[in-house]
Amino acid sequence: MAELLPGAPVAERLTQDLKARSDALRQRGVVPTLAIIRVGRDPGGLAYEKGAASRCAKCGIDLRRIPLDDASSLPEVIRAVNDDPAIHGCLLLRPLADKAAEEAAGRLLSPDKDVDGMTPGSLAGLLTGRGGFAPCTAQACLELLDYYEVPLAGRRAVVVGRSLVVGQPAALLLQRRNATVTVCHTGTRDIPALSREADIVIAAAGRPGLITVDFLRPGQTVLDVGVHPGPDGTLCGDVAPEAAGLDLALTPVPGGVGSVTSAVLCKHTVQAAEKTL
Ligand code: NAP
Repeated sequence: MAELLPGAPVAERLTQDLKARSDALRQRGVVPTLAIIRVGRDPGGLAYEKGAASRCAKCGIDLRRIPLDDASSLPEVIRAVNDDPAIHGCLLLRPLADKAAEEAAGRLLSPDKDVDGMTPGSLAGLLTGRGGFAPCTAQACLELLDYYEVPLAGRRAVVVGRSLVVGQPAALLLQRRNATVTVCHTGTRDIPALSREADIVIAAAGRPGLITVDFLRPGQTVLDVGVHPGPDGTLCGDVAPEAAGLDLALTPVPGGVGSVTSAVLCKHTVQAAEKTL
């Protein structure tokens, strides 16, 4: 049977540290503050916002919610966020239906406040190792691996998915920690064989059940980033349920990577606030 790697203790440990750091900031007159911009009422976005609000409260972070009916005022809102010294971090809930508006927002947002790594400046920082926040979900994968003391240096990792939100940044973060990384995508031949060779598998393809037992072998650490509503209303991941029968370590869905993501958002916000001192 697989050993489950829940996200809750990872998030709790981060929260305790962040609450202490927020308290210290408040004593020095800085109230760590996050703005969340939501365009429309996508159920996934609303659920993420709710979870982030609860995590911010636990971490001592003030939250400003900025709901928008559509993306037309987005540039104006981002400029206002950039100009407001009381706001330290800004999350634009993604994906937006309007891709052009999403990209324009990424170009406008100040990289200093870009706590979810969406601006070209943040992504360049990630590539060069010269600062900038990584996208929260990718960073959450690293927080999980570190919490469960999974060795990275010299290990082989396969990341299935190459989006700028999860796959690519997760691969860069793993490489920075001296793992040897193979990034797989829809053009990759024989992903099961590549995946079986890896010590660490990050499943971020957004395809429910794609990672069957064929992709896996005993002894691996498998992080399931995928989140999909199942037919009965429950959530499932990219890893097939049968994987739980193998002798490996596996993050559950729900309750795995997703539950660490909002704690990472808080971590980045506190770091951004600390930088203003
Ligand atoms: P995305 O932008 O759709 O990217 C999916 C990536 O997977 C693409 O690079 C795609 O390859 C690759 N892919 C798709 N089908 C594949 C297949 N059959 N074989 C190999 N590669 C395949 O998705 P995303 O935004 O990265 O999100 C991925 C998943 O993570 C989704 O389920 C999403 O809901 C979830 N997610 C979770 C969190 C969290 O906090 N837990 C946060 C964000 C996203 P190509 O590039 O070749 O098209």
